[in-house]
Amino acid sequence: MAMKVCLEPGCPTLVRDGSRCPTHERERDRQRGRRQARGYDAEHDRLRAEWAPKVATGTIRCTRCRGIIRADEPWDLGHDDHDRTKYRGPEHATCNRAAGGRAAHR
Ligand SMILES: [Zn+2]
Ligand SMILES: [Zn+2]
Repeated sequence: MAMKVCLEPGCPTLVRDGSRCPTHERERDRQRGRRQARGYDAEHDRLRAEWAPKVATGTIRCTRCRGIIRADEPWDLGHDDHDRTKYRGPEHATCNRAAGGRAAHR
């Protein structure tokens, strides 16, 4: 089988199957993953932008502790514990972090 240089421009590494060297193959996978992550973030940003003016009124309750999220308090858009692709609504940043890893007990 003929050896060819890696498809990544400027990379001199010879590869057997005419694709990319292991380093650049991994890099490509990482970039693909980041692109998917960006789509996910866009949805998150859109929902967060919808919630932001409501939370700023200081009348919205945290989806976890049911306490008011004050206008000046840091908050996160919480995920559904059972379906990580769904968002539930705003919650205190502290509640969001405290819940991490404890989802199975709920
Ligand atoms: Zn390469
Ligand atoms: Zn809370």
